This record gives sequence, C-alpha cells and structure tokens, in this order.
Amino acid sequence: MPERKEKFYLTTPIYYTNGLPHLGHTYTTVVCDTVRRYKRMRGYDVVMTTGTDEHGVNVERAAKKAGIPEREFVANMAEAWRALWDELGITADEFVRTTDLEHVRTVQWLFKRCRENGYVYKGHYTGQYCIYDNAFVNDAKPGENCPDCGRPLETLTEENYFFKLSAFQKPLLDFYRKNPDFIQPESRRNEIVTFVQGGLKDLSITRTTIRWGIPVPGEEPHVFYVWFDALTAYLSAVGGPDYEKRGMWPADVHFVGKDIIRFHTVYWPAFLMAAMLPLPKQVWAHGWFLMDAAKMSKSKGNVVLPRPIANMLGMDALRYFMLREVVFGQDGNFSYDSLVTRYNSDLANGLGNLASRTAALIEKNFAGKVPKPAQRQPQDDALAKEAQSAIGEVLERYDKMEFARALEAIWAVIAAADKYLTTEQPWALGTSEEGQARKATILWTTAELLRIVAALAHPVLPDSTAKVWALLGQTTSLDSLELDGLRWGQLVPGTALGKSQTLFPRVEKTEAIERIESMANEELNSTSAAPKPASAPAAPATPAAAVGVPAVPDKIAIEDFAKVEMRVGQIKTAERIVGADKLLKLTVDIGTEIRQICAGIAQYYEPEALIGRKVAVVVNLAPRKLRGVESNGMIIAASVGPEGRPVLAGFLEDVEVGARLK
Ligand SMILES: [Zn+2]
Repeated sequence: MPERKEKFYLTTPIYYTNGLPHLGHTYTTVVCDTVRRYKRMRGYDVVMTTGTDEHGVNVERAAKKAGIPEREFVANMAEAWRALWDELGITADEFVRTTDLEHVRTVQWLFKRCRENGYVYKGHYTGQYCIYDNAFVNDAKPGENCPDCGRPLETLTEENYFFKLSAFQKPLLDFYRKNPDFIQPESRRNEIVTFVQGGLKDLSITRTTIRWGIPVPGEEPHVFYVWFDALTAYLSAVGGPDYEKRGMWPADVHFVGKDIIRFHTVYWPAFLMAAMLPLPKQVWAHGWFLMDAAKMSKSKGNVVLPRPIANMLGMDALRYFMLREVVFGQDGNFSYDSLVTRYNSDLANGLGNLASRTAALIEKNFAGKVPKPAQRQPQDDALAKEAQSAIGEVLERYDKMEFARALEAIWAVIAAADKYLTTEQPWALGTSEEGQARKATILWTTAELLRIVAALAHPVLPDSTAKVWALLGQTTSLDSLELDGLRWGQLVPGTALGKSQTLFPRVEKTEAIERIESMANEELNSTSAAPKPASAPAAPATPAAAVGVPAVPDKIAIEDFAKVEMRVGQIKTAERIVGADKLLKLTVDIGTEIRQICAGIAQYYEPEALIGRKVAVVVNLAPRKLRGVESNGMIIAASVGPEGRPVLAGFLEDVEVGARLK
C-alpha cells in the first residue's frame, strides 16, 4: 500500500453575502490559494475551503429590498462569489454555503454535543432593539438611536441559549501556552491572551427575533446566531459529524482578517473543546490594505475591486503586489500608483524581460534549442550557487508565511541574472567556435536560472510562471512539480523552446490607472444600482462593433431608422489594447472629424491590415467605455457562425469618406 500523503487543511473565512468581494477578501483568498499551491508542490494532500455565510438579519433585509426570497438571494450571491474566484483563477477545493444541508446538520450536531457535555443553558438576553429593523443593535446603550434608521431603540429581553464561554478561560490559556504557534502573528497572540485573562462572559448563541437562520432542533423559533453557525462551516466542509472518515480535520491553518481573530481564537476553540473535538493548529491574522490610511469599506467609498486590476494587468500582477508589498500580518498601503510601478519594474522589466531576452538569444544563436554548456567560469558557478541557495531560503520563507521575503529572494536572483547577462554580453561574442561555446554556457545558465525562478514563484504567480515553464520547453505541469526535488542543473540541453510570448507588456502609468478606475466605476455602478446583486458582469462579453443584425422583434417605422446615423469611415490607426484580448482601438475618419472607436475584432483582424480600410460607422451612438477605453461610435460587422465571428461590412465600389448610409 502506498503511504498516504501528509494532509494539509486550510481555510479562508466564510464571507458574508451582503455584498461582493473587494480587495480585502481577495487578499485573504489569494494568500490561502498561494499556500495551497505551495503545499501541493511540497507533496501534501491539500484541501482549501472558502464559502459564503448566508444567514442573519442583514441578508433577510437585503433579500426583502431586492424583492426575492432569501433562498434565491443567497443562491445568487454564492454564485457571484464563486464565479469571481473562478475568474480570478482561484479554485478552492470546497466551497461551503451555510445554507447547505450538510452544514445545517453539522451545526445542530455540534450544539447537541456541547449541550450534552453541559456547556449550553437557557437564559435571557437583554439588549437594545430596533422594532423597525427587527434587530438587536450590538453594543448600543439604552437611550441611543438605531444606527441604521435613526429611530429610538428599545430595551428588549428575549429567551436565548447561552454557551458557557466563562468555563473556558483556563483551558484556553493553557492551550495557548502549550501551543505557542496557535495565534499568529505574535502581536495578535499577546492581544488575545490579555483579552482572555480579563475574563470571559457567556455567549448568547441563539435568537428568536431572527427568522432566517438554522433552527435549533425542537426549540423553534430559536435559530443559531452568527458565530456558532458561521465558524462551524470549517468543519462541515470536510465531513461534519463524519469528519474522521475524510481525515482532514483539524484545520492546519485558518486565515482571517485581524478584525475577526477573537472569534477564531476564543469562541471557536471553546466550542470545539466543549464538544470534545480536535482544535485547529493555527490561526493566522493578516492586516488590512489601507487607502488614505483608512480600512477599505463600501460605505467609505474607497473600495478597490479585483476584477478591473486583473483585466488591466493580469491577476498575477495583483497577487504579486499584495504579497510583495506588505509584510504578511501587518497593515499595508494600497495605491494604484505603487501597483503599476511594481508591475512595470518587477514584472515587465524584471521577470518578463529576463524571460524574453533569454528566449530571443537562444532562438537566434541556437535555433531555439537549449544549448549544451561548455567549460564553466567562476562567474557561472557563482550564479549557480546563488540560485541553488535561493531554493532553500525561499522554501523556508514560504513555510513561515513570509511571502514578501520569499519574493524578495527570488527577485534578487533575477537581478543577479540581469547583471550577469549585461557583464557577459553573449550577443557580442561572435560566431567562432570559442564564441559559440561561451555563449552556450551563458545562455544555458540563464535559462536554468529562469527555470528555478519559475518553479519557486509559481505559488504566487501561477499563470505567468506556467508560461515561462512552457517557454523553456518543459512539458510536465508546473503544478505537479515537487519543490523538494528542485536542483540546479536539471535543464536538459537540446530541449526545444516553446512559443515565445509577451508575459507582462509594459503599461503607461497614467493611462493604466485611468482605465482601472474607469472599469471599477462601471462595475460599482452596475452592481450598486441593481438591487439584485448577482451575476451581471461589468464588461460586456461581446463588445462594440461585432454586433451583427440584432433580433428585432417588431417592425420599426422609417423615422426610427432615421434616428441612426451611419456614415462611411476610414480607419487611420489600429492598435491592440493591453488587458483586452478581444478589443482593437481604432481611430476612424468619418469626414467631419476623427473618432476613437473600440471594436471587438482583435481575434480576427490584424491591426496593420485594417489601416486605410473603409467601414460603415454608427456615428451618433452615445460615447461609452469598454475595458476602460473610450469608444465614440460603432463599426458595423456581420456576426458569422455559432461563435459570432465578426466580418466587417464594406463597399464594393470606392466611396467617399463621410457619405451617409441610408
Ligand atoms: Zn432601525
């Protein structure tokens, strides 16, 4: 029997479904995804869980506002979250929804165990209650007004089930002492220890004033309240009551934002202790990305969305920035300016440039095949040594969740290779036998370094390193590469390079920021305006021109048709748009002026071939932005075949630019 791989179970928080993901959620999830990929490459059997927290009064209200049943509302929300993670290339192994039957069963089972062990009792909860919103306002004092509707709060007492949290002060302190790594980083650990030393109050874990929740069996109208429900999702994702069969529980690490660490390091282990279940091994709290020194939130209007950044610069760029820019565990600043600066300096000029330079030199001098190194010189050995020792250092950094340091070490190797190429100047060596031999050694060395870099950076930059890997002619999947077997010297001479491609096209900073912001505005407007939060991607899948003849349900009057002004235009310039594979940016002479128009034809027309071509243009269409680029008009094209291939409408005779189509 083959030995079972060691397991590793990690989780993001179960995100609350009253809104869509912003950069904060993306950060936690990217960290988790990075560790998931890393542990896989270290040979672990890894399960990562994310999901959605779907109960509570806020969801009840949001669904009411949207005019749809709660169940439908949360299903839409869960789908939107799942779709975004998919789009961003983050694939969790388990996506748990707190409305899943399996989860409901697990919460009820956990409650039963805690109750049987004597840690649950019936009591009364008194708090400040808004009768208009039907909700208790936590931490409000008598006489205060409702923060939501501004009306006076009332003091209300209801019957609740309580969890005997007070009984766990000593067990928790003992546990923290015996497991000094349980709470990370260190500063958070001290904060929690101090909090628990200050004494713990029993916790109300059910409500009778909320309808949309998991029922307490046989105790209706009691439903479980927030944390007893949400935290249990980590367990229900990997088998719930049957967790032993799946073999994943306890979690090896829960990643959380620092604002929810108390619930994860006090309540959660206490619930599990009460139920006599194994405790998670670690809770890692990260800091916040701050904009103008404030935590991002929708209500502050300083929210940054991941999708526009991924569209413009690629998801790898966002992942790299988030993990490179801040020390994991601390707060960091976010600005588009520093994002684009890092993109250009570290990715376009750093990794991207080294890869394309190396490939081009091998292409030119060795017909696209990895050369066989000849006699080595001390500087070759020095670079090899640096790359080899980086392997050990980077793995150690990843193990400690020191992502910024890991990337720093990888990029130091890239910088050393740049310097090496600049000093050795393989392009100046000539084609004598000696020159070719020296070139072979230099280029093999650089290519081998690039291979090591791709493997080490893969957990953070999954897409672009896979491209480097393919460029180096590697046919095995980088995901399944075992980092423990990675050594200098494994690149086989004679390997044919893959097709070259631009990894990180350089972008112009001001333009890039403008386009990201513009796409973000489109997305925010399209989601905040609509009460139904689900789906509806911000950018249209088939942009601009490539619209053929739309299905017209009814006949229209000639006056209606006359409202559309179409003219003959001539294409003056055409270029591709970074971050938008389908779009071309055109300037078109329409007789009276030159217009900028975006057309969704990039996959079928080469920009150069379009210059001078005469096309039919709708000129009185309201200007709009596509992928953040302004488009002022529309080019007419037929939509052909099931894929809707665009074919530009044209003229068989020569026609004058600006002539009206009637
Ligand atoms: Zn109210």
